[in-house]
Amino acid sequence: IVSIMTTTYYRKGVVHEQVLPPEDLAFASELEAAIAHEEFYLVFQPQIDFNTGKLVGVEALIRWQHPQQGVIPPNKFICVAELTGLIVPMGAWVLKAACQQVSSWKNIELANAKVSVNVSSLQLHSEGFTEYVVQVLRETGLAAERLVIELTESAFVHSDSKSMENLQALKRIGVKLAIDDFGTGYSCLAYLRDIPGDYLKVDRSFINDVPGKERSEAVTSAIVVLGKNLHYQIVAEGVETEAQADYLKGLGCDFVQGFLYAKPMSEQALQQWVLARQDNALSSSES
Ligand code: C2E
Ligand code: MG
Ligand code: MG
Ligand code: MG
Repeated sequence: IVSIMTTTYYRKGVVHEQVLPPEDLAFASELEAAIAHEEFYLVFQPQIDFNTGKLVGVEALIRWQHPQQGVIPPNKFICVAELTGLIVPMGAWVLKAACQQVSSWKNIELANAKVSVNVSSLQLHSEGFTEYVVQVLRETGLAAERLVIELTESAFVHSDSKSMENLQALKRIGVKLAIDDFGTGYSCLAYLRDIPGDYLKVDRSFINDVPGKERSEAVTSAIVVLGKNLHYQIVAEGVETEAQADYLKGLGCDFVQGFLYAKPMSEQALQQWVLARQDNALSSSES
């Protein structure tokens, strides 16, 4: 516990020493215990190919099953996990659990689906991250090409050599990279140009307002065109309505993820969801 009272962390490219306020400190020690007790589980949200309607991947998202407070969503704890550095062991657990679960899926569509894992800039920056990924892939038997590492733009702000080395090494072994929540945070077109990314995820805050809001349409369509010219595949995230889906498909987005298609679900619910879709496709092709 003492180790997390004063925490060294990275923000805006600078190393800070920070003393956490008492309420965060208490929360942080609970979080530390939760990691030791593995009180976390993953849910999976489908990602669909706009053109074929087929499942192409799932995003693994962490949940905390708190013994007293029930399920706690990541927005409530990822921030403290990052401030304390606990995100490193937590993220290691996520990566391993995600690869383990996905590599065991037998259904033909799920057995080919990619898995996207959110990785914090602290993990990317940490010594031995690439080696850890290699080890997890070897232990779980998951093909490197099926793993997509999602990084937010803030991960590139540091652009330190350790992070860049890890990115290049991950690319070399075949792991895919996605830039998450693009357009918010520290947007910088140089990152888009220089990062060896495969997927660009347009942030939900833009998607909320399209079609209809002219200024959001302008930004969204410009991001899609720019991303495509840089040979990214474009993922529209947070799509909730048919109108949004039609608009984004029309712009040329490749993939879509959102409540319109499916919410994040347990592994078991995902398997049922896939089976139900396959049954549907079968019965509509028979009639
Ligand atoms: P994200 O990586 O951008 O993940 C997408 C978030 O948007 C998820 O929230 C998902 O449930 C939500 N979402 C997807 N479609 C829709 C939609 O149509 N409408 C709305 N309103 N929301 C939608 P979630 O699971 O609460 O995660 C929030 C954030 O927490 C994630 O955003 C990610 O930044 C972070 N996070 C989640 N799991 C992990 C993890 O394992 N490691 C790290 N470092 N961060 C994580
Ligand atoms: Mg993500
Ligand atoms: Mg996102
Ligand atoms: Mg987000």
